[in-house]
Amino acid sequence: MTLLDIENLRVTFPVDGGPDVRAVDGVDLSVETGEIHGLVGESGSGKSVTARSIMRLLDGARVESDRFEYRGEDLYAKSEAEMRSIRGDDVGMVFQDSLSALNPVMTVGEQIAEVVRHHGDVDESAGLLSELRRKYVTGTSEDAPSWRRAVDLLETVGIPDPASVATTYPHQLSGGQRQRVMIAQALGGDPSLIVADEPTTALDVTVEAGILDELRRLCDEFGVSILLITHDLGVVAETCDSVTVMYSGSVMERGSTEQLFENPAHPYTEGLLRSVPEGGAVDGELTTIPGSAPDPTARPAGCPFRDRCPAAFEACSDPLPEHAVDEGHVARCHLYTEGDDPGEVTWDGATDVDGAATGVAGAADDPGTASPTEVTDG
Ligand code: SF4
Repeated sequence: MTLLDIENLRVTFPVDGGPDVRAVDGVDLSVETGEIHGLVGESGSGKSVTARSIMRLLDGARVESDRFEYRGEDLYAKSEAEMRSIRGDDVGMVFQDSLSALNPVMTVGEQIAEVVRHHGDVDESAGLLSELRRKYVTGTSEDAPSWRRAVDLLETVGIPDPASVATTYPHQLSGGQRQRVMIAQALGGDPSLIVADEPTTALDVTVEAGILDELRRLCDEFGVSILLITHDLGVVAETCDSVTVMYSGSVMERGSTEQLFENPAHPYTEGLLRSVPEGGAVDGELTTIPGSAPDPTARPAGCPFRDRCPAAFEACSDPLPEHAVDEGHVARCHLYTEGDDPGEVTWDGATDVDGAATGVAGAADDPGTASPTEVTDG
């Protein structure tokens, strides 16, 4: 069953004294119940703007679409009061920077308990005065159902000794623990969907693996759907059931993770995969795509990848087509006609990782520290 169904999303930011910036240009995105869907793209691809449009957290932007449905209802027809209850209750959000996202002067248990009370699952007042009293005078009693639920949630996300961790402040925890706290907080509203925006970017590899395992487990055991925003193809391969690849505000390809990794149908996806060490490297060499993404105020007509694509030809200045490669697998590229595979693209223009000044592989910027599976951060 489709939980989130977005069609032809356009997000435009007005700029004082300059041309408007179209950050997202005609994006289709759907998330099925109980799946992890990866939204992958490099800096400026519009993936985070797309994610924030789901929470209606884009102040000042013009958001237009042909369809924007959550559970079959138009999200943009909801009142602000209805949206407040959807945010945190039905749709939870996990941000990249946990230190900024969490309140530094409240214990983490208090912050999770607050979400639980607002969800209304416990018989405790969540009114403004009650919350102010709790916040500045009494704190939530450790016997209160919301506090007990907060401790349970910390345990659910794999925090050892959750009862004492609940009494700590965010700065007393490690980055990995704080990310787990944010996931627990998102779960406090008993959501159907969690939007996780680069939740592991700031973490080291072993901590990241633990968090990704946790997300996978929440999806498998509790049926929570997750929209995972990432620039890391390794994260997609390990965690996601399906994936949408974005570039410069547009969708390039979407399909199951297996379809995209085993049979990439779009030159951009293929270029990204060439930077993945296992299976992607050609003749043992990791490569990156030369050039950089276009300025969003001056994109080329037609395919935005045109200036970097080794297979570009005349028709690529026409509006992007949508070709079904296989069931559920779509590539937006002029090389394709229905059921006609143009074969592998020759990447003569691609340069090896060490030699590239710009490109999509994060390793190009710093081969010593960045994962070669990363798209340039964004
Ligand atoms: Fe874009 Fe054309 Fe290259 Fe396809 S072949 S990715 S449409 S530039």
